Amino acid sequence: MDLVTGQATGEPAPERREADPLLVSFLASRDVRCPACGYNVRGVRAPACPECDEPLELALLGTDRALGGWLLAIVACALACGADLLAAALFLAQIISLGGLIGGPVFRFTLGAIVAIGVVCAVSLSVLLRHRRDWDRMSSRQRWRTGTAVGFTVFAAHAVVGILFLLSV
Ligand SMILES: [Zn+2]
Repeated sequence: MDLVTGQATGEPAPERREADPLLVSFLASRDVRCPACGYNVRGVRAPACPECDEPLELALLGTDRALGGWLLAIVACALACGADLLAAALFLAQIISLGGLIGGPVFRFTLGAIVAIGVVCAVSLSVLLRHRRDWDRMSSRQRWRTGTAVGFTVFAAHAVVGILFLLSV
């Protein structure tokens, strides 16, 4: 297919576009999972997953793609979700059992902050997991920078709530 013609007449449907011959020959003899839906794309000759339409391309990725910044961001968010859930349960128990004595505004504010941060971390975790493909497309430096930024933000948010709580009690 002529690329110029293809662009001039608009993007054809994925199944009508020709896949990269290297991709076709790679998939001809290998069981490979679609990065988006997990469908086995062995033998697929189109440049998109037949199950979910995710564009398929053959690419070289660094060996550190599964580690590094990605793990840092995932672990930070997952740990924060777990810790926030635990902390929220403890605060709730404290507020209920002490009925207003210690369960004053400080406790309620801290509980609210913990729940809010926990929800943000849970959403971030789900966004990170769903956009793994985009993450892999970033350069190694970008991945580390983003991972460190996520880890630092999660830590800083918890540190601020913790310090505010300790100063107010
Ligand atoms: Zn798919």
